[in-house]
Order: sequence, then C-alpha cells, then structure tokens
Amino acid sequence: MKPAPFAYESPATLDEVLNLIAEHGDEAKLLAGGQSLIPVMNFRLAQPSMLIDLNGTNGLDHLELTADGSLEIGCMVRQSTLEKSDLIKKHAPLIHMTMPWVAHSQIRNRGTIGGSIVHADPAGELPVLMVALQATFELQKVGHTRQVVAEDFYIDLFETALTDNEILTKIIIPPQSDRTGYAFHEVARRHGDYAMAGVAAVVSVDQSGICTDARLVYLNVGPKPMLAKSAANMLIGQMITMELIEQTAEFAAENEIEPTSDIHASADYRRHLAKVLGKRALTEAVENI
Ligand SMILES: Cc1cc2nc3c(=O)[nH]c(=O)nc-3n(C[C@H](O)[C@H](O)[C@H](O)COP(=O)(O)OP(=O)(O)OC[C@H]3O[C@@H](n4cnc5c(N)ncnc54)[C@H](O)[C@@H]3O)c2cc1C
Repeated sequence: MKPAPFAYESPATLDEVLNLIAEHGDEAKLLAGGQSLIPVMNFRLAQPSMLIDLNGTNGLDHLELTADGSLEIGCMVRQSTLEKSDLIKKHAPLIHMTMPWVAHSQIRNRGTIGGSIVHADPAGELPVLMVALQATFELQKVGHTRQVVAEDFYIDLFETALTDNEILTKIIIPPQSDRTGYAFHEVARRHGDYAMAGVAAVVSVDQSGICTDARLVYLNVGPKPMLAKSAANMLIGQMITMELIEQTAEFAAENEIEPTSDIHASADYRRHLAKVLGKRALTEAVENI
C-alpha cells in the first residue's frame, strides 16, 4: 500500500514547527518515529495533506536530570535511548525494565517517547508508565505553553487532551522517593506483540515499612491507561502483606478495569490476567524496594 499524496516539510526549529501547525491545522500530521503513523497512512486511514517531520528539528531530543531531581525528556527521544540510558536506569527504573516489552528493537530504534504517548494506544506501555510515574507533559502551540499531568492527558480510546495546533514537546518525570519499588508485567502471545493485558506497579514505604504511596496502572483492559486508584489506596497506611496484595489485585481487577473481547482474548481472560499480573507486579515491587 502507498500513502495518499502529501506535502513534506522538515523544519529546523520548534518555532517553525509551531508556525507550520498553525498554518495547516488538522490537515497536517507530525512525523516522529513513523512506526504508527506511516502504517496508518499506507492503509489510507490517515491522509494528511502536510507531513511535518520532527526528525531534523533541533532541541527535541534532550534527556537530562534537572536541579530538583526530575527527569526531563524531549519528545523525540527514541525508545531505544530510554532502554539504554544510565540516567533512566538510575532515576526511572520502571521505564528501564519495561522498554524491552515495547515492540522489537528495530521499532524502538525509530519509535519515540512522544509519538507513543500521543498515539495513546490503550495497549501501549509508555502511556501506562507515564501515569504510574505521575509524569507531566508540556504542550505547546504558537504563543502558548501548558502542562498536563499524564493521568488527565488520556481521555478515551486514542483520545488525549492535546488540542488543535498543539505539540507535545517534553515529558517531566518527578523524583520518586528513595524507598520505592517498581515492577512491570504483561502477557503477549509473542514477545514484542502488543500485550493482551499488562500492569505497572509503584509502591513506596516509610522507614518502618508502612506504605506511603502506591500506583497500579493497567494496559489493554480499558480504553486508556487504567489507574486503579481505590485498589492502590487499600495499601496506603498499611504494612503490606501477601494477603493485602491479593485483596488489592482482586479489587482492582473486579472494579477498576473495563476489559473487552477481541480476536486475541476474551474480556474474562483479560480480567483474569489483570488479577494474576496485578498480584505479581505488587509482590515484585515490594520486593524491589
Ligand atoms: C510491529 C509493531 C509492533 C509494535 N508494538 C508495540 C508495543 O508492543 N507496544 C507499544 O507501546 N508500541 C508498539 N508499537 C508502536 C511503536 O511503539 C510506535 O513507535 C509508537 O506507537 C509511535 O511512536 P512514533 O515515534 O513512531 O510516532 P509516529 O508514528 O511518528 O506518530 C504517532 C502519532 O503521534 C503524533 N505525534 C508524534 N509525535 C508527536 C508530538 N511530539 N506531539 C504531537 N503529536 C505527535 C503523530 O502525528 C501521529 O499521529 C509497535 C509498532 C509496530 C510497527
């Protein structure tokens, strides 16, 4: 399949990108890694008349630790860079441990963090990690910059808070407390395929081992990253036991996800996976503290 004809621009600066988006509106599409956009264009499910290529735009691929201990990640940082970066390994171990689950290495060499976040596939790992790590996204259009937390960015199936003429420019991941453990688990038919279900767990405790914070976020069991807030709250203020973990995972799977059936798995099977993987991820996160 070949895409419909389109015009192409490769702007060198962010200002040029913003002006081009303002000029062409929803006729334009941004090209990041192209790993989702190009197949969609080849199938003619998207037919932008203007493609704005971000690959030659300066200043969108920085990855650094800021003075307050946050990680700042430019939208064009490749998924393979996240996978291999020592900074990510040290300050966002959840991202480091999860990246090998995202597609295949060839796709991660081109795919970007920004493209994956904006594409908002409910089966995508990065959107789930962003919600689990309480990331903030910086969105820009001509003359205006705003920040949105990941939890509020995802609205519905492939629907985000990004409005017309906006671009996601950077991702800010706040520092996590020292006594925090992380885990990610998913089940896919073959390694590298989109998962039938998956979950990220983040658990923090104080010096006496009492849980101070917990996040449990599921993929592909609802229209967007599914944050199991009430379930995670069951852990806060408690000494975490195996029994409590089981109750938490069960509550989340029964009450805080919306799995549907498709050719890959039934809704019931996805709910079962959510229960088993939730328990596994919470157990491992606590062991990793
Ligand atoms: C065979 C295959 C298997 C895959 N498996 C997985 C998987 O298991 N897990 C997973 O998470 N992903 C998977 N992917 C998707 C892959 O991770 C993509 O790289 C990712 O979803 C999109 O990133 P990209 O940089 O390629 O974005 P692109 O394809 O270039 O863009 C995606 C969309 O985001 C928009 N966009 C891009 N950047 C910005 C920005 N900065 N601001 C605003 N809009 C922007 C584009 O206009 C487009 O609409 C798979 C892809 C393939 C081809």
